[in-house]
Amino acid sequence: MDTITIPQSMLPEDTRFGSGPSKIRPEQIEALDRAALTVLGTSHRQAPVKDIVGSIREGLASFFSIPDGYEVVLGNGGASAFWDVICASLITRQAACGVYGSFSAKIAASVESAPFLEPPILFESEPGTYCIPERTEYVDTYCWAQSETSTGVQAPVYRIEGSREQGALICIDATSAAGAIPVDIAQTDAYYFSPQKAFGSEGGLWISILSPAAIERAEGVRRGASLEGARRWIPPFLSLTSAIDNSRKNQTLNTPALVTLVLLDEQVRWLNENGGLPWASARCRRSSDIVYHWAEHSSYARPFVTDPAARSQAVVTVDLDESVPAANVIAALRDNGIVDVSGYRKLGRNQLRIGVFPSVEPSDVEALTHCIDYVVERL
Ligand SMILES: *Cc1c(COP(=O)(O)O)cnc(C)c1O
Repeated sequence: MDTITIPQSMLPEDTRFGSGPSKIRPEQIEALDRAALTVLGTSHRQAPVKDIVGSIREGLASFFSIPDGYEVVLGNGGASAFWDVICASLITRQAACGVYGSFSAKIAASVESAPFLEPPILFESEPGTYCIPERTEYVDTYCWAQSETSTGVQAPVYRIEGSREQGALICIDATSAAGAIPVDIAQTDAYYFSPQKAFGSEGGLWISILSPAAIERAEGVRRGASLEGARRWIPPFLSLTSAIDNSRKNQTLNTPALVTLVLLDEQVRWLNENGGLPWASARCRRSSDIVYHWAEHSSYARPFVTDPAARSQAVVTVDLDESVPAANVIAALRDNGIVDVSGYRKLGRNQLRIGVFPSVEPSDVEALTHCIDYVVERL
């Protein structure tokens, strides 16, 4: 296949459209430059790093308008580690999980493998749709994903009716949603994410906004596990009470990547200065609308998620006709420097997947759609 060269004037200014890791803005790299001699290579137990952690915690509290008593807690290991924190430190007996894609399936698998928990009750639906757990007797924790990154589906976040009376917690995987999709934190008990998606940082960290009920639950589970004869082992790395204690001191249990913290702090500052979550989510809405609108009017593409209300404004998935192999489109775009628009491998569709997080300029998203058309016409 001959190389297709997209005219320079058509190319997006920034050519990164990954669904995580995602675009890191030049201003974040400048912040890293400034930190290079004063922060990088210094102790995370001393003021310069603790001040950054404190600034991130305050910045996120403001960004998400967290209710009184909620706390911003963080630790190492990313959202994947937090799934196991939920199993070790939050679920008392049994969880109910919404399962509708690779990421929402993974926490269910973690719960399933915890020997001290009852098998989870699954509420499953086909990829491209979502399924919220229903109130279930005996369940003490409800889990689902606000944005299922593998399929580009967005699900609502609310307290399941009757769950509060049950004393049950609502745990939301917001890894690709946080910072891109509106949320009312009061509807959640653990709203958790990694910083390499909408927050344009590096991976390796988890952040979780915890309600007073979640904090109390973690303390209760720890007390129960320390009783003689109790069957539960809480590995120190997965101890939420330990993460809470450390976070209150603006620290983490073990050494964090300082680059991740510096990039994240700069992004939170930028988002707050521009108008916070309402601004960020409106921007993502605008970018995602550009792609959905383009796909709906394209002769060879269509949005994968058929229900418009379930279409993610953070990660956009677009099916292509079989006559237009996505692999060839992706390769031609990559030849021109446009990267990371592949569909989720395990979903196995002839698909493009485009991350439209706040860092991405809507004008670049528009340019991307023209570049896709340009390439497809010449394949
Ligand atoms: C990316 C992602 C994860 C995994 O995040 P890691 O930082 O790699 O652990 C989990 N859940 C969702 C919804 C994601 O998009």
